[in-house]
Amino acid sequence: MVRSGTAGRGAAVERPTQLGHNRRASYLLASMRGRRYTSPDKEASSMLQRQELRKAGLKITLPRLKILELLENSETRHLSAEDIYRQLLGTGEDIGLATVYRVLTQFETAGLVNRHNFEGGHSVFEMDDGKHHDHMVCIETGEVVEFVNEEIERIQKEIAKSHNFELIDHNLVLYVRRIKKESDA
Ligand SMILES: [Zn+2]
Repeated sequence: MVRSGTAGRGAAVERPTQLGHNRRASYLLASMRGRRYTSPDKEASSMLQRQELRKAGLKITLPRLKILELLENSETRHLSAEDIYRQLLGTGEDIGLATVYRVLTQFETAGLVNRHNFEGGHSVFEMDDGKHHDHMVCIETGEVVEFVNEEIERIQKEIAKSHNFELIDHNLVLYVRRIKKESDA
């Protein structure tokens, strides 16, 4: 016979173990999918994200922390909301797609991320590191490549100047397709 008091205590003690199981399961799931698993206990790594959220004037919430962490540690710099949602699922985070969208929009407003609406695909987001770069997008695979070309930068300023304008900003996207090797034909 288990008295209710004991059962209550028992449940309280059991919870961390269960969490541990879930985390192990998430880890297994993540490694099975070939994704990097970030331990939720990594307090130190989220310190930076906490500071960044505070600096951006955003309250610290778990979805915001997790999404910022993911954006900063991702090997791919340009991620869609769906990419982020799927990667969170892979690490066992229960954050809905609508929340991902909302948080990304908040990040964009706060100047933490840049949104690109490339043609023929959905919006992709990247951390705003303050450095300018242009993009090319593969129309077949959606692959995004970053580049900076000093000559293009200079010519654009010159064109604006020749029209009596000062260049404030620009957004250059090249839509590209891989050149097929002769052996592929
Ligand atoms: Zn970029």
